[in-house]
Amino acid sequence: MAVTAPRLWLEGTLVDSAEAKLRIMAHAAQRGSLVFDAGSFHPTLRGPALFRAREHIARFLRSARAVGLELSYGEEELLRASVEVVRATGRDDGLVRWSGFFTAGEPDLLPRSPRGSVAIAAQLLEEPGVPMPIRVATFQDARKAAPDALDPAVKVGAAYLGPMLHRRRAKAAGANDIILLDQEGHIAEAPVSNVFAVVEGAVWTPPLRYVLGGITRDSVLAIARAEGIPVREEPLPLETFRSADEAFLSGTSMPLTPISHVDGRALNAAAPGPVTAHLLRRLLAIQGGEDATYQAWLTYT
Ligand code: PMP
Repeated sequence: MAVTAPRLWLEGTLVDSAEAKLRIMAHAAQRGSLVFDAGSFHPTLRGPALFRAREHIARFLRSARAVGLELSYGEEELLRASVEVVRATGRDDGLVRWSGFFTAGEPDLLPRSPRGSVAIAAQLLEEPGVPMPIRVATFQDARKAAPDALDPAVKVGAAYLGPMLHRRRAKAAGANDIILLDQEGHIAEAPVSNVFAVVEGAVWTPPLRYVLGGITRDSVLAIARAEGIPVREEPLPLETFRSADEAFLSGTSMPLTPISHVDGRALNAAAPGPVTAHLLRRLLAIQGGEDATYQAWLTYT
């Protein structure tokens, strides 16, 4: 679990997090139009480093554009502000969350003004995240929205309501998380992470049509490709997933989470399987600044 750091960046100033409030009548609250992104920072020998912050900020700005928000800051300013937020925590491990929301405080369906505000908060981990294997469930009627109804690349609050309800159902059924299906009934993604299977030595993840382009997903694919591990970015049938050798979730808050069971059935290898464990070790080493090849992914603070 993570707790919000005492101070956050709001429109250019570090303020007390408890004082940074959103009005009940705000569009963000009434219509779920707040856009956000979440990245991470990690301890390295050169101090805390943000992981792929430029990509997170670029994705945040794309989400903002998609909902018609006009923000006053570009990528460079938001990167500098993010470094400031990390420094203000005095910690070397945690998450950074960028939020963008309509400044005008009325809930008209079409906001009265496109002007938006930005807040950047750090979240600090209460306990070190040990990736414990999890059980996941699927339901035929727990699916991602059709991409023409809701673009899966846009991180907007409203998009998370369906997945929240599906996760609750999965938990009630004794699983830790839900794996949402796509409109064709293939594997899509979990509410806040992408999904991978390991099948006959290949690392297999669904293509981007129905899922968010996760930055951890992209990192895993880059690492696998660089090491000559076969990669498949193709529709992943439910039955293939259920009988995979290994499977894992990828996402910023817990880079790789091994999956032990799908719909009550154990996967072939005990979780974490060897490919999952290897990719996780590589990713953690890169985030820790130990790999010269991937220095461009780090922003030292
Ligand atoms: N899918 C969804 C729907 C998400 O919200 C997230 C979290 N941002 C992910 C996948 C994983 O993306 P990332 O690796 O960039 O955290």
